[in-house]
Amino acid sequence: MSSPSNIIRAKLDDVPILAGIELAFIGIGSNLAKGQEEPAAVLQRAFAALALLSDYPILVSSLWESSPVDCPPGSPRFINAVAALRPRHDSPRQLLSSLQKIENEYGRKRGTVRNAPRTLDLDILSFGEVLMQEAELTLPHPRMHQRAFVLQPLLEISPNFIVPGMNPPASQLLRGIVDQGALTPINFTKSL
Ligand code: ATP
Ligand code: CA
Ligand code: CA
Repeated sequence: MSSPSNIIRAKLDDVPILAGIELAFIGIGSNLAKGQEEPAAVLQRAFAALALLSDYPILVSSLWESSPVDCPPGSPRFINAVAALRPRHDSPRQLLSSLQKIENEYGRKRGTVRNAPRTLDLDILSFGEVLMQEAELTLPHPRMHQRAFVLQPLLEISPNFIVPGMNPPASQLLRGIVDQGALTPINFTKSL
């Protein structure tokens, strides 16, 4: 994958400029093309959109293909990734609002069917160590610890990640998930 310099595929510990900085981790998913753009291309462009929300280069995981979890029957497989960014926004709510704008630009439709196929889904997994529980925003994301398609890419960026407020490290949480099928890494070479 060729990436601009503000999008880095690396482990957090290998990027000294990010040491000690409060980061937000974003879960990214797509299982519906946007016109000609396949989900993998949508994710690649979402990385570029996320980089604009960040004061520092963003760290991104590989792209992974995963089986739908808790989705309507016949749902296409997902492409998932995680990004870590240093939000320009002061507050998690402002960040969520920016993420929803990006989703809308990518043609995200909000219907009544839970987990219906979507062109782009951007969830705040964590925002520093913030803990909050409101209808429009819960942090950390209340289901992240149950999802291999979140934890596996997240651990690529931050192998020692601990979900804020949770005891077992994320690596241990991932090992406890047995029923979601293997994730397949995607070789995606199209440049931005
Ligand atoms: P899930 O939350 O289980 O991954 P989803 O991503 O498909 O499901 P959406 O329809 O995208 O759910 O979002 C529903 C609502 O969840 C949003 O309107 C948003 O206000 C709320 N929400 C609560 N916590 C978060 C969070 N941490 N990140 C993103 N959205 C959140
Ligand atoms: Ca989601
Ligand atoms: Ca969402």
